[in-house]
Parts: sequence; structure tokens; C-alpha cells
Amino acid sequence: MNSLILLFVFIFGSIIGSFLNVVILRYNTGRSIVSGRSICFSCGTRLHWYNMFPIFSFLLQGGKCHSCLSKVSWQYPLVEFVTAVLYTMLYLKLGPTLDFIFYAFIFSVLTVIAVYDFRHKIIPDELVYLLITLGFLRLAYVYSVISPDMAISGFLAGSLMFLFLGSFWFFSGGAWMGLGDAKLVLALGWLSTFCYALTSLVYSFWLGAIIGIFINLFFKRIKEVPFAPFLIVGFLVVFFYNSNLFSYLGSTACIK
Ligand SMILES: [Zn+2]
Repeated sequence: MNSLILLFVFIFGSIIGSFLNVVILRYNTGRSIVSGRSICFSCGTRLHWYNMFPIFSFLLQGGKCHSCLSKVSWQYPLVEFVTAVLYTMLYLKLGPTLDFIFYAFIFSVLTVIAVYDFRHKIIPDELVYLLITLGFLRLAYVYSVISPDMAISGFLAGSLMFLFLGSFWFFSGGAWMGLGDAKLVLALGWLSTFCYALTSLVYSFWLGAIIGIFINLFFKRIKEVPFAPFLIVGFLVVFFYNSNLFSYLGSTACIK
């Protein structure tokens, strides 16, 4: 594949990532996500166009505001870089297709949800309902165009995972699991199929357990671990590597 195209996709992803930072920051603050200039939060200086190059501006300025030299959050270059990498991997997997556009949008929303949940311990309802709607539309498309079995497999995956995490939420009074996490797996299941969705859920629990134990041992005791980032990383791993822990369940359940 032409490496120039990949470079273009990478840069495009980093620009989208910089927009996602704005969405994460301004969500629920009443500020518009499409208008209003970007400013430094310490000194209020407006950013110039040359301060807003994704990833590079942060590195060139040493992670500091060009005017007051206060530190700029690592979230900015990190989200830009992760989005750029995701877009590039997605392009390598799907090429210039409608699927690429669909999943690029899905992954952008997932990135916002992951960072937002990490920062605020809550999953924005509007975003998760948007994903559920897109998941349902995808199922309807798969059902009528590709394979009814595949659509049913995805429908069952999302619905069962929703009931599973939803019961955690219900019986613990929201202590072990948020209802937002249950809504998120509903969407992720509907964007997947049975065995792949279950695999990604298992990975999320493993990853959450390992990192949770690590943090509690070496840092401080944390009461609430945001689970959405783990659910999303699990989903991404399975999506890109077609990882399937349950292949022995047989061809009907483990439809691709
Ligand atoms: Zn400043």
C-alpha cells in the first residue's frame, strides 16, 4: 500500500484527534464544540494556528503554553496520536471503503467515551445512545445484506452482555458497575458477533483486574475504576486481531 496515503491518513487522524480533544473538554460545559477559539486554560491566551498542529506543537513547545509556559495536559498529544494510529490501522484493515468511514466514526466516539470516563467516571448518555443506534443500524444492514445468522449473533451478544453487566449494576446498587458500562457493551456487542464480543468482554475484565491490582498495590487505593476504557481496549484488540477465545462453541454461535 502506498505509504504516502498512510501518512495522509495518519495526519488526518491526528487532526480528528485534536477535534476530539475539544469535544472531550467542552462536553457538558455549555460551550460550542464547533465555534469559539481555543485558548490556554492558565493565561487565556488565544492559540495561533501554528500552536495547534496535532502532536507536533506539543512536542515543539515542550508541553508548555507558548505564552505563560504553564504545563499543557498530556491528554492532548495522546488523544491525537492514538486517533492517528487507530485511523491508520483501520485503513490498513479496511482500505478506502464505506466501512472505513463507519468505523472511523465509531472509534472516534469510543475515544471520546474512554477519555471522558477516565476523567469524570461517567459515560455520556448521548454518545452511548448514538453508538447503540449505529449498532442497531449495522445489525439491520447485516441482516438484510450479508447474513441473518451474523446479525442474530451480534444481537444476542450485545443483549446478553447488557443483561450481564446490567445485573452487576442492579445488584450492587451501582458500586461494581455503572449502568453506562452496560449500555456500552450493548452497543459493542451489536457492532460485533457472539464469540468476538464475549472475547473482548473477557479481555476487558482481565485487563481491568491486572491494572486495578497494579494501581492498588503501587499507588493508592482507588474506589472507582472507570471501566469503559477497558471495555473499549478489549473491543479494539478483538477488532484488529480477530481474537476468539470461544471458537469451540461451534460454527453457529461463532459466526464471523
Ligand atoms: Zn498560557
